Amino acid sequence: MDNDKRQRRIKRLKKEIKIILLFLIIFPWVIVTVTAVNNKKLSKENAQKEELLNQYLEQMEMLSTSYETEEKTKEPEAAVLQGPKYNVEEMTKEEIEALSLSDEELYDGYRKVYLTFDDGPSSNTEAILDILKEYDVKATFFVIRREGREYEELYRRIVGEGHSLGMHSCTHVYSELYKDEDSFLEDTKRIRDFLYLVTGVESNIYRFPGGSSNRVSTIDMRKFASLLENEGIEYFDWNVSSGDASSPILSKSRIVSNATDNLEYFSEAMILFHDTASKVSTVEALPEIIEKIKSMDDTIMLPITDETNPIHHISVDK
Ligand SMILES: [Zn+2]
Repeated sequence: MDNDKRQRRIKRLKKEIKIILLFLIIFPWVIVTVTAVNNKKLSKENAQKEELLNQYLEQMEMLSTSYETEEKTKEPEAAVLQGPKYNVEEMTKEEIEALSLSDEELYDGYRKVYLTFDDGPSSNTEAILDILKEYDVKATFFVIRREGREYEELYRRIVGEGHSLGMHSCTHVYSELYKDEDSFLEDTKRIRDFLYLVTGVESNIYRFPGGSSNRVSTIDMRKFASLLENEGIEYFDWNVSSGDASSPILSKSRIVSNATDNLEYFSEAMILFHDTASKVSTVEALPEIIEKIKSMDDTIMLPITDETNPIHHISVDK
């Protein structure tokens, strides 16, 4: 009886061991299979995603290619210039004055290039002024309000050396300047009064921080533009950008090519530069830019004056 009992126990134990063994063999296999199936599913999903991404990229590429071809078929034409009526560069100051002509008549037939510097004065203004002086070129500075003796000297030097002094707001802080019409008007009056106090010149030219086409202002820029108009102030955007604000430091060669590569397509080119402490490559690029422009036929560099045709990114009329 006892023996029988033992035999059955052993049998049961054997059966249990078999089940455990079987389980031990089957369980990892199940795990491996399930994981493999999952992986397959995942990789399939990834493949689908990748395919979608590729399709998207292809579409983008097609879009940009069609844009490029469209651009290429519309090959821009170089500006047609009649050639200068008066060879201003060969004339003395007295000879020019004796003609008593308006700028428009005097520079008739020339391609006009305006070098404009925003955001100064800065630790680079002096170097910029030195270069302009060396090449006998007049430019335009759209300045902000900077207090302190060394800055005041720079405002005065800009004016004293025959460059145009334009306004570019007091602080260049978009959220304050473009808050509402009152704050814009207040800021404009403050920078105008400040510059008059420092230089004796009442500036009547303006460049909007970010340009009139900026997407920062939540208020329609045309409102600010008409406020300026009411104050007898003309604003100037640009049609050529040196790109010197597009990265912390753009290489000198890129600035030179951005500023000069397409000038032949313009009869009037207003080039945007920045005069801030970090824009060292702008200063380095300036001599080459001036030399290139000087080497162009029938081309003259001028400061912005009352007679300059403004470049507007937006129009006030509509
Ligand atoms: Zn600016």
